[in-house]
Amino acid sequence: MVKFISWIFKSKAEIKVAVSILFILFIAVNTFPQTSPEVIKMEQPKEQSPLLGKRICIDPGHGGSETGAVGVNGLNEKDVNLKVCKMLKEMLEKEGAIVSMTREDDKSVNLKERWEFNKSHNSDLFVSIHHNANSQIDRTANRTEVFYHWHDRMGPSEDAAYLVYRELQAAFKLPNSKPYMCWSYGVLRENMYPAILGEASYMSNLQAEERLRDKNHLRDEAAAYFRGIKAFFEGGKPEIELNKEIDISTKRNFQAKIVQPKDSALIDPQRFRAELDGEPLQSIYYQPTSGLLVGLLPKEGVNGKHTITASAHNLAGHNSFVKRVEIDFDKPYQTTESFETKIKRKVVGMSSSKEQTTPIPYAKIFGAEIFDFLTTTDENGNAELYITSPQHSEPFFISANGYWSKEENLSKSEDISLQPMFRNVLNNKLIVVDAEGGGDYPVAIGPKGLRASDANLETALYLADYLKLCGANPQMTRKIDMSMDNVSRIRFGLEHNTDIFLTIGHRLPEAGMGEKPGTNVSRVGFRWGDSKEIGQSIIFNLRQMLGTGKELGDVTSRQPLPSEMHDWSSWEIMHGSQNYNCLYVCPQMFDAPGVEDRISTTAGCRKEALAILYGLINFYGLNDQKMALIDGVVLNSKTKTPLKDALIWLDNTLITQTEPDGKFLFKFLEPGKHTLLVMCKDYMTTKKELELKEGEQVNPKLELEISQN
Ligand SMILES: [Zn+2]
Repeated sequence: MVKFISWIFKSKAEIKVAVSILFILFIAVNTFPQTSPEVIKMEQPKEQSPLLGKRICIDPGHGGSETGAVGVNGLNEKDVNLKVCKMLKEMLEKEGAIVSMTREDDKSVNLKERWEFNKSHNSDLFVSIHHNANSQIDRTANRTEVFYHWHDRMGPSEDAAYLVYRELQAAFKLPNSKPYMCWSYGVLRENMYPAILGEASYMSNLQAEERLRDKNHLRDEAAAYFRGIKAFFEGGKPEIELNKEIDISTKRNFQAKIVQPKDSALIDPQRFRAELDGEPLQSIYYQPTSGLLVGLLPKEGVNGKHTITASAHNLAGHNSFVKRVEIDFDKPYQTTESFETKIKRKVVGMSSSKEQTTPIPYAKIFGAEIFDFLTTTDENGNAELYITSPQHSEPFFISANGYWSKEENLSKSEDISLQPMFRNVLNNKLIVVDAEGGGDYPVAIGPKGLRASDANLETALYLADYLKLCGANPQMTRKIDMSMDNVSRIRFGLEHNTDIFLTIGHRLPEAGMGEKPGTNVSRVGFRWGDSKEIGQSIIFNLRQMLGTGKELGDVTSRQPLPSEMHDWSSWEIMHGSQNYNCLYVCPQMFDAPGVEDRISTTAGCRKEALAILYGLINFYGLNDQKMALIDGVVLNSKTKTPLKDALIWLDNTLITQTEPDGKFLFKFLEPGKHTLLVMCKDYMTTKKELELKEGEQVNPKLELEISQN
């Protein structure tokens, strides 16, 4: 044991120092679980271009003796690339960007010189501009492609590629376009990231070649790049630092610090990736006010070398770089029993009638003073914790799927009891969440370039996260942008023996179903068993949360209107559903005014997901008319204008996010005390306590003050 201690720390004194540092960190940063109003200082809002001071490297493809593609009528790619780049440079510089170009005239530059040029300028973004040609001489081929290297998949390069792709798609509307991951392009392969390569159209296509001779067309292309690049810097990106000194022998924890630079939107607390060898870690804990992310690694059966990867996402939907750290479990897991005070606690869940308790397996317990930092209960709900002193009185944060989180002083010797979320109605329900489309099949592309398949996935990811939080067992058919045929989806439902198979799709109106273009309606397709009733509950909640269906008639009734519900027995995915409820949920029509903008945001997709969750809770037996409800709004305290992208935590557990109207809705609440914690970029974090009576509906206005520095 002594030998083991000396492996980590040199002396016991050092252990105390280390533990106190953790303790100070906890005190200094832990504003999240405390109950007093909190003040977090952030930057004052600024009305300046997000491009100001950004270093952007523009790379006109080819040059000199290397012409690049040549059109039928002799147009050289190298010249077109250079023209677009010069226009783009001017646009970016007008808004304060610091732009460098790998070539400013018609000369040869090899690939190595290009990436070395970029590195020497330490750019915030590298954009290579090309125009493609079809090597099989298929002169009909013409589409927009934007590439990023696979090393930065799900990182900032993919975000930048996607944003530029969307603008090019919106400007030129070429079919079968998409952002592409690639591995072969040398200029991306050896470069520093973020880096993208755009091919706005095909020079080998005759019409495209003619258009590329037109200055106005080139200006439109440069402007599309400009808007995509600006959007990339507008949302900013989070940064993540992994603690490489992982004390895996005693803690089995890894720690990361998530940094939100002043130009990044708020960190999205529902969208971390923390993986061990590519598999998500079962327990992670994030403290939003400090940015501390802690993950619990397996205690047994993992000897040998492993890789931890982690990344963060912000409310603009932008990703941090994916960070990796190699670890070697070369020693068995050991507790710190011999030199710390051990306490044993059981975590139990109250039943909805509050008469019985059940042990909660794998409940998370987080506290800086615990030597384990983040630990979980075992399969019987028991936890062993090591604290530095028996008189220890700091609160610990306890959470478990299906229960409201709580703070508790563990020096009390009783069981820790948690209250069930939504009376446990979703507990252990197996729900397959299926995002329609993906890969080469976008289902629909909006006028602003959004692929429905991507919005479907966003809403599906939030829904799966909500379901898990509420104690259900969600399974997703796809978690990334990938092609998947209907048969695979049906098999997925059958093999999971699911209770509900729920497809999320944003569609265009269909005349055959009595739908008019431009009308925003929520639509559910159903087939079997209870799926019609589930659909009715979902429709009602979608209308309530999103304001859909108003153009159709009276939406105050809980009964859906005829064009909101359809028997979809003939739809292929429904064919497999003899054993389970199968639903197709279109939360909003893709072509209705404002919808594309709305579902391009994390707030819009999160709201759709929460509405579907409420629909499921409704269906499984909770009556929102008999329970308390918080229908609130977040405002700027001075101007009284609504604030978008505010995050609101209900009782430190359930999260929602405001859209531009500042509104939020929490339903199915029990009488008693509830806490709202609100965070919004550039505003002071605020807490509000509410005391709700049975069935009461309250409309709090949460007024946030601008942060002073
Ligand atoms: Zn080229």
